Amino acid sequence: MDIQEKIEKLRKEIELNSYLYYVEDNPKLEDYEYDKLFKELEELEQKHPELITADSPTQRVGGISEKFEAIAHKNRLYSLENSNDENELHKWYERVMKDLNPAGVQMNLFGTSEVQNKDIPLACEYKIDGLAVALTYKDGKFIQGLTRGDGFIGEDITNNLKTIKSIPLKLFEPVDVEVRGEIYMPISSFEKLNKKQEATGQKTFANPRNAAAGSIRQLDPKITSQRDLSIWVYGGIFEGKDIPKSHSETMKKLKELGFKTNKISVVKGVEGAIKCIKKIDEIRKSLDFATDGVVIKVDDIHSQNELGFTSRVPKWATAYKFPPEAVWTDLKNVAFQVGRTGVITPVAILEPINLAGSVVSRASLYNFDEVKRLDIMPGDRVLVKKAAEIIPKVLKAEKTDNSKPFKMPKCCPCCDTSLIEKENEVGLWCPNPTCPDVLKGKIEYFVSKYAMDIEGFGEGIIAQLIDKNMVKTWADLYELTLFDFMKLDLIKEKSATNLLTALENSKNCKLNKFINALGIRLVGKESADILTQYFKTIDEIKMASLEDLSAIEGIGDKMAKNIFAYFKDENNLKTIEKGLSLGIKPENTYTISDNLKLKGKSFVITGTLNEFSRDKAQEILKSLGAKTPSAVSRNTDFVIAGENPGSKLEKAKSLGIKILDEEEFKKLIEN
Ligand code: NAD
Repeated sequence: MDIQEKIEKLRKEIELNSYLYYVEDNPKLEDYEYDKLFKELEELEQKHPELITADSPTQRVGGISEKFEAIAHKNRLYSLENSNDENELHKWYERVMKDLNPAGVQMNLFGTSEVQNKDIPLACEYKIDGLAVALTYKDGKFIQGLTRGDGFIGEDITNNLKTIKSIPLKLFEPVDVEVRGEIYMPISSFEKLNKKQEATGQKTFANPRNAAAGSIRQLDPKITSQRDLSIWVYGGIFEGKDIPKSHSETMKKLKELGFKTNKISVVKGVEGAIKCIKKIDEIRKSLDFATDGVVIKVDDIHSQNELGFTSRVPKWATAYKFPPEAVWTDLKNVAFQVGRTGVITPVAILEPINLAGSVVSRASLYNFDEVKRLDIMPGDRVLVKKAAEIIPKVLKAEKTDNSKPFKMPKCCPCCDTSLIEKENEVGLWCPNPTCPDVLKGKIEYFVSKYAMDIEGFGEGIIAQLIDKNMVKTWADLYELTLFDFMKLDLIKEKSATNLLTALENSKNCKLNKFINALGIRLVGKESADILTQYFKTIDEIKMASLEDLSAIEGIGDKMAKNIFAYFKDENNLKTIEKGLSLGIKPENTYTISDNLKLKGKSFVITGTLNEFSRDKAQEILKSLGAKTPSAVSRNTDFVIAGENPGSKLEKAKSLGIKILDEEEFKKLIEN
């Protein structure tokens, strides 16, 4: 395909998707997929400017439907240039500074030149992900409201806009002004609306933006009035005398006139803007409206006029877009790793890519069912997302000419033992109990925070202990001497002493942590806690029958079988005996009286609490009889939301679960 054909193909694809997005409010692509096509076209056109046409999507804004009367805008509406990272933001600022001071110099009062490199004031605001409108006020009265449309012509949606309570019909002063703002739907209302649409068999909306756009562009204003829409005003063009001299003054004036104005911070230069972006990034997920970035505008209106516009965007503003949470890259290979239980997990080896601020070269594929579901093959293009912000996962795979069939492994990637399948279990397993990677996984788990919490035992040290055959079970750790540790690479006497002390200190441990540390399949922190409520000592668990274990609430049948089998295994019993004989003293600290006020209630914590670590808060709740699962579900009674809460808060809101802030939580436990 030659360049011209490629450009035309891209234009067609972009036009079709713009139509679906702007006119039909029913996009088929994710925004980042659309942005990728757009950027590809922009780059091709930049390389071949002779192929740019006036009707190319890169030269135009938005789209317009025939549903409403089309009316010409008095002042043109533009889109915004994007800055996708700090580097692009710096480049935008450099261009601004260069355009404002072409020679980088200015004359001072004495007619001599001086270097002009002072930072200029920039206004930083939320980039609200909604639908742009222009509202015209004459003598302080709302007379017309148009969508952005193609920037020159908008759709007349005045009657629909009149149903939005946050749009004033009459201002506090009789001014003439054209106000620009974004119509949006609060996230909580969007979730409620989608539930209602689903329940009544109607079309659901892909995101709050589409819900807002779809609701405001209804032919029947009655339907619009039933949808919870609001506006954030982010600009205005005044007529007459006393026109504000800066964007921030405009915003102040708009607020005084009675508008609901977007939050704005005026900062000095690009570094100030970056600091502000970071602050917004920290809080944006807790806001009840969708933001997809931060808009940075030159504050001074005289400078804005000097800078002017391109055919699509103002040169005096840029939209810093938060890094997408999902990106496409090439799948180089599928590797296999063996975990502490011996189960083999497939891992995607990726062409390294920047994802939400960090370089990612591996992503989890969880298990072979997932590989099948994704129909993934080495050589595919894959869409990778940060799951729970930590481990990246593959969302979808697309075939390329390089895709090669996926082959199931036959042998353990670590010890080459033939893999087996287990009855009633999915997946492939390494059956070798002394497989070094299985052992490493077991020991890493044993020393980890929620298990024995032994400081200083990083992956490197554990790997050496196993590779040098110094440790075959977790109990062997307690036999190590100062001399043994000093045989390890990069370990000097001081760190060897610290490791020994950490081991010594871990001997007086809590029973729940010790049970968790044993790494019994399916038994984690929560189930270990439950077991300590029923059994006072390890010996009691050892003696428990399968029926005793299955009868415990919170211990499923499969888990009960695993626990039972674990304590019947001679090797496991020998290891425990050895550990206890070397000084480990698990103490059951579970003291709970029967009249506990929070008995049976389920609390989930999200965000950071000021006065309690998450562990501490959970410990207190448990001591009052509450359960503290990590995920929100319909069975959750309360969610405690600290600072910067995560998606759990949104989920809780959507399920109508009661949310407590830190103060309310304190009151609850004090009472
Ligand atoms: P944009 O949304 O990236 O930016 C321009 C708009 O930002 C303005 O028109 C205004 O409405 C809005 N805005 C929000 N807060 C603002 C503030 N504080 N100050 C000024 N303006 C503010 O650009 P666009 O041209 O409206 O749309 C392009 C975007 O739409 C693309 O990035 C793409 O992701 C999305 N899109 C997606 C598809 C799809 O198929 N998924 C199709 C077309 C467009």
